Amino acid sequence: MKRYVLILTLLAAISVAEAREQRPSRAKLQEQATEAMAEADSLRTLTGVQQSVIDSLQSLLDGAEARLMARSNALRSDASAPVDPEQAAADSIAALQLRLERKQIESTFDTNGLTVLDTLSSGNDALFVILYGNNTWKYVRNRAVARDSTIFEKYWDTKSLFPYQKVDMSSMPQSVVIDLIDSTKSYHYPYKGAVNPRGKYGPRRGRRHQGVDLPLKTGDSVYATFCGRVRISQYVSGYGNLVIIRHDNGLETYYGHLSERLVEPNQWVEAGHIIGLGGSTGRSTGPHLHFETRYYGQAFDPERLIDFKNGILCRETFLLKKSFFSIYSNAGQDFDDEIANEEQDKKEAAEKAAMRYHKIRSGDTLGALAIKYGTTVSAICRLNGIKPTTILRIGRTLRVR
Ligand SMILES: [Zn+2]
Repeated sequence: MKRYVLILTLLAAISVAEAREQRPSRAKLQEQATEAMAEADSLRTLTGVQQSVIDSLQSLLDGAEARLMARSNALRSDASAPVDPEQAAADSIAALQLRLERKQIESTFDTNGLTVLDTLSSGNDALFVILYGNNTWKYVRNRAVARDSTIFEKYWDTKSLFPYQKVDMSSMPQSVVIDLIDSTKSYHYPYKGAVNPRGKYGPRRGRRHQGVDLPLKTGDSVYATFCGRVRISQYVSGYGNLVIIRHDNGLETYYGHLSERLVEPNQWVEAGHIIGLGGSTGRSTGPHLHFETRYYGQAFDPERLIDFKNGILCRETFLLKKSFFSIYSNAGQDFDDEIANEEQDKKEAAEKAAMRYHKIRSGDTLGALAIKYGTTVSAICRLNGIKPTTILRIGRTLRVR
């Protein structure tokens, strides 16, 4: 009996000791389980994001499929029904007018500095889906499957600003429809800020300005306006540090006076990619972005596309008319013109600030006024278109300086 008690006591002691030993390892297991649960949770969130992308892609594909079906049905019924060419023309004009309407398209979100989590297939060879670390995603063109690769091959020159000498513009139609954005909705303002009133596009005092001037602070980010490929990234006299990007629709955008260029020729860029920093290099009297939009080297007013003050793209589809081109635009900008205009503006502003007027009172004479304002009778006569013998009417205002 005593022996049994002893054995039982021993067994009990052993199991207590075992339990003591096991307690810490159980706690560790618990900890590991919690960690595993958290990991599973985060994976589930990620899968959730991917799932939502896949879902939205699926619905896009479904939509495309439905449209395709509708179109083939329509074609089938068209084949049997007589086609009314007038109606068809009216329909296509109405559709084009709808596309050309003025809109307000905001910039794509800024992905500069975001981590790329994953690149997924979109079901369409031409597009990828990129997942970013902040749970956002966007479509990006697959550059291996360029829709019209000749855009980036023909007249492609990474050294010469104007590679279009051989293009016969006289054969260009009176207007061209240009899609500014497609399903990827890729647009970003180059810089958000008002256009300097003196830096608008077009002729001023017989001098030409081929772009717009946007005052900025040196070091401010300058963004690629649409997707495309960098054609020029070099220091050019006049423009200073210049980046030229050619876009998928054939337009080219110019970014001049940069303090730094952050892209290389032949590099592919997405809309919103920071391509350089604002500055005042080249022929420039202060930090600003000289921004141009060109088609086959011909400049037109960038304000036709972009509301720079609000950073908004004004249309999805642009009807570029030949009449928009300056006849002088098949070359770069003459920045001496830009500076000459600025100097003349300053001179005129100073003259305006120095103007003085005098209201005639009883007893005033031209001679007395000339002495009072430190000028001459003939100068006062010239400013007011009067003669020294003109009788001064009381209450009349004369410009004296
Ligand atoms: Zn300019």
